Amino acid sequence: MTTFLSTIGISVLAAIAITTAANLCTTVYLHRALSHRALSVRFPAAFLFRAIIWLTTGIKPKEWVAVHRKHHAYTDVDGDPHSPILLGWWTVQKRNVLLYREAAQDPVNIAKYAKDIPDDKWDRMFFGHQKTGLLLGIAIIMVAIGPVAGLLAAFLHANFYLAANAAVNALGHHFGRRPYANNATNLQWLAFCTMGEGLHNNHHAAPSSPRLSHKWHQIDPGWWVIRSLSVLRLATVRFSDIRLTASAKTTTN
Ligand SMILES: [Zn+2]
Ligand SMILES: [Zn+2]
Repeated sequence: MTTFLSTIGISVLAAIAITTAANLCTTVYLHRALSHRALSVRFPAAFLFRAIIWLTTGIKPKEWVAVHRKHHAYTDVDGDPHSPILLGWWTVQKRNVLLYREAAQDPVNIAKYAKDIPDDKWDRMFFGHQKTGLLLGIAIIMVAIGPVAGLLAAFLHANFYLAANAAVNALGHHFGRRPYANNATNLQWLAFCTMGEGLHNNHHAAPSSPRLSHKWHQIDPGWWVIRSLSVLRLATVRFSDIRLTASAKTTTN
């Protein structure tokens, strides 16, 4: 019984650690650095971000970038890959993976929205092979904490990661505060779970800002990591201040 409970406990702790790492790479690297060019990340930090994304999510960065840029280009109007205003928040929460895949597998989207992210030699060798990355990631965790605990941790992580990132697209355009007059919302609890992404209303008001917290009481863990990388000279932020879009400047609620 004790062994069974300790296996569960180790799996849950490992899953939380893996999801936290995956969410950090998603928000700092895929979202703020690649999609919005709010910061540039240097080697070896960039390589580490790519490797963690490959091992923990199987996401191809150029696909994530294309889907996300299309969301900004058509926010909550026809063409948005995952709008809860058009589809309903529960449909986006449930079907986010399928909606993402549909947009990511459309070569027109990749050509239009991610032409600045060509495959390089690391993609050809490793990062472009999504299933290999996921299988290797599962193998590493099974070796690290044991086969049963490792498999359970991988299963829990997949659910945590997919649910949290679906929530940004679904809840983050439906429930929560709207300090700026856009359809996205701020949910601090979701920002804790997603390393800052839950401050989504702030993000739509200032997409080029590497920092998603706009008030002293808002907490954006991704920004702490960006500041640490900057101190270590592994990243450079494009703007140190928060640059609101023209519409956000004039339509603050
Ligand atoms: Zn959004
Ligand atoms: Zn964005």
